[in-house]
Amino acid sequence: MLRIAIQKSGRLSDDSIKLFKECGIQFDSSSSGKLKSISANFPAEFLFLRDDDIPGYVEDGVADLGIVGENVYTETGRQVTVVHKLGFSKCRLSLAIPRGTQWNGVEDLQGRGVATSYPRILGNYLKENGVEADIHEISGSVEIAPSIGLADAVCDIVSSGSTLLSNGLKEVEVIYRSEAILIAAPNLSDEKALLLDKIMFRIKAVQAAQNHKYILLNCPADAVDKIMQYIPGMKAPTVLPLVTEGWVSLHSVINENDFWTNIEKIREAGAEGILVIPIEKMIR
Ligand code: ATP
Ligand code: ZN
Repeated sequence: MLRIAIQKSGRLSDDSIKLFKECGIQFDSSSSGKLKSISANFPAEFLFLRDDDIPGYVEDGVADLGIVGENVYTETGRQVTVVHKLGFSKCRLSLAIPRGTQWNGVEDLQGRGVATSYPRILGNYLKENGVEADIHEISGSVEIAPSIGLADAVCDIVSSGSTLLSNGLKEVEVIYRSEAILIAAPNLSDEKALLLDKIMFRIKAVQAAQNHKYILLNCPADAVDKIMQYIPGMKAPTVLPLVTEGWVSLHSVINENDFWTNIEKIREAGAEGILVIPIEKMIR
């Protein structure tokens, strides 16, 4: 049985649970006090933990797999395998300073105090830039440090920037970008590696589906060749005759990103009655 560590409650939890459920792996994630849950239909047990503890548990083999932010993976420096990027919980680690202060570059931090929960990532960044600063490690509410005189700058997680703003700070430098990743213990047994392959197959099908849409449209039969250029589909589009003489229905798959770029060209080529429908799973 695979033991999979996910965050108990926080910014990774909902999407981690959703990912496994979309992969058809059922487990009880409802009761908040719960620490473990065994899947009813896949040989896996889920462990609900604090995110900071997950890389350590995976390194020690207490858990076989885990989902964490890349920021936590890098900061903890644990010897685990990064299996796959998951595309959610995107955020950045940035330097910020009081709003009225001038900023010329990271060299401004020479000899200054910087408060952070990420001493390792910040330390590496300063070192790469040849800057020596005092790193004050604090575990939470880093953004208040300048206003209480604890530091001249902060290095903290930013997504929208509103927390910085409400504390009178401005973001001046992005030093690290992060998203959720799937990590694995370094020496999985063959049985467990096989289960991981199965999970990866499903994750890729779910991710591919999220980036694609099923598209149906009507067009004159002689417009098919032109329209096909924009929606080639997985192998080729399906073309079905309409009852109306000389017209067909064309079915295909389109990349979400290409949709708005190509929609005008598809219409100009003669398409009408265009329907775009979400895909649940996609296996190439
Ligand atoms: P825990 O109680 O488990 O230690 P935490 O408070 O340390 O939780 P969260 O705030 O839930 O952690 O963030 C978990 C991870 O989500 C972060 O390590 C980061 O990778 C990502 N993250 C943090 N802030 C944001 C945000 N505003 N938007 C998206 N992702 C974020
Ligand atoms: Zn945490």
